[in-house]
Amino acid sequence: MAKKINNNKNFRYSIQAFWALVTNSFLIGFVQGKIYQGKIKNVCVPGLNCYSCPGAIASCPIGSLQAVIGSYEFKWSFYVAGFLIFIGAIMGRFACGWLCPFGFIQELLYKIPFVNKIKTFKGDRAMRKLKYMFLVVFVILMPIFIVDIIGQGAPYFCKLICPAGTLEGGLPLVLMNKSLQETVGWLYAWKNLLLIITIIGSVIIYRPFCKYVCPLGAIYSLFNPISVFKYHVDKEKCNNCHACSNSCKMNVDLVKNPNDLECIRCGSCKTICPTHAIEYKCLQKTSKKD
Ligand code: SF4
Ligand code: SF4
Repeated sequence: MAKKINNNKNFRYSIQAFWALVTNSFLIGFVQGKIYQGKIKNVCVPGLNCYSCPGAIASCPIGSLQAVIGSYEFKWSFYVAGFLIFIGAIMGRFACGWLCPFGFIQELLYKIPFVNKIKTFKGDRAMRKLKYMFLVVFVILMPIFIVDIIGQGAPYFCKLICPAGTLEGGLPLVLMNKSLQETVGWLYAWKNLLLIITIIGSVIIYRPFCKYVCPLGAIYSLFNPISVFKYHVDKEKCNNCHACSNSCKMNVDLVKNPNDLECIRCGSCKTICPTHAIEYKCLQKTSKKD
């Protein structure tokens, strides 16, 4: 069983690493301190990966969403909205578990040993709702209503909050560009503080940014109950041993709700289940309890 669990984990880590590398394959950008601006940059990737990362060959969907919402022409981009709906409808938060570079970074940080890893705490479940607030306030409302004199809103989540942007874009660009170093101020310091908190938090808590902050995870989570790819628990095979919920680092009780909004489809529960009661379901109607 231990071997099977490790194989499953290693397989997922390989996919995550491979996809992070593909997403950031403009490696020369890290040497030149410049960002790629070719045609592929018009395409979004499914996970959170900063547009300004020197290696990024495509765009972050949350950055793109704010850019079109905040545009003074206010054209709703059917492409960005359609992309998010398409990914969500096909796989829900599977994208978080397998295809998000920033989710992968947090998982690597969680591997660093620490005296007291925190699995859950009072208010944990309530705090998970915060990510919907970040989505509505910083990604949607602020870019619409806080605008400059020509009516242009800013990408407020990227600008004020996103630690992925600081780690993947802000830090490397500032380190490699003298002209940028002269322009940094309080905002850069604030963003670095948030990044430090995220890094320390990720060593202690599994994927804290995904659980409490990420607006992209918030969008995908809404699709978990209705996406093509779903989980199903065969109640006849399940012996209620709770091995699945005990193994889940997102604190999901899969037997209660196989399509919980917090499930990132990592597959740990499925691998650990001694009776093979957890199954994948594609394009199949599920009952409410399912
Ligand atoms: S919640 Fe956000 S950061 Fe976490 S894996 Fe999903 S998209 Fe990536
Ligand atoms: S319920 Fe299972 S697949 Fe979902 S996050 Fe937890 S362990 Fe991973």
